[in-house]
Amino acid sequence: MNTRHAESSEGILETEAQGPTVHLDWLKGAMKGAPVLRSEKTLGELEGLFHDVEAQVRMSAGAIVYVVQWWQAAAAGEAGGLLWGVTIVKPGKVGDEFFMTHGHFHADRTRAEYYVTASGHGVLVRMDDSRSTWGEAMSPGSVHYINGQHAHRVVNTGDEPLIFWACWGADAGYDYGTIREHGFGARVVERAGRPALVPNE
Ligand code: ZN
Repeated sequence: MNTRHAESSEGILETEAQGPTVHLDWLKGAMKGAPVLRSEKTLGELEGLFHDVEAQVRMSAGAIVYVVQWWQAAAAGEAGGLLWGVTIVKPGKVGDEFFMTHGHFHADRTRAEYYVTASGHGVLVRMDDSRSTWGEAMSPGSVHYINGQHAHRVVNTGDEPLIFWACWGADAGYDYGTIREHGFGARVVERAGRPALVPNE
């Protein structure tokens, strides 16, 4: 928030608060103002991430799996800068595997990140450098501190959009390639009507 001080006619110091340039709706995962950027990921762009390739081929490549909006308050790579954003992961499955984000390591493994769930249910999948993989349940109000050394991906295991907010370093950077090439050590699939974390074969 910017504040400006002005002298009134009586000589009393008044504080005139100026509104911030960005506003959000926590539960809807909406953010507006400037500069808010937006990016969508479709099934086609996530080709190769889901294990049931044939099931994915039968689905529309243009189907949106998740939408990210972020406030680019600092330039990418700016030391000490922070970015703020929200992701909406749509409900759905490819075969028995739930819709999920691509997932990444941070290029700078010293840079941590917060995720906070606003709406919906899912799993935050985390993996360390030895490919040991585990999940943290996401539900409204859950707060997740992601160590900078852990890869992270979000899976929507519910039947409504999974909405979570994030704050991360502008200089964290992204390492998508490691995930693209090797995936995580486990996947979240439906087993007997319930989500299960199973080893990635
Ligand atoms: Zn991250």
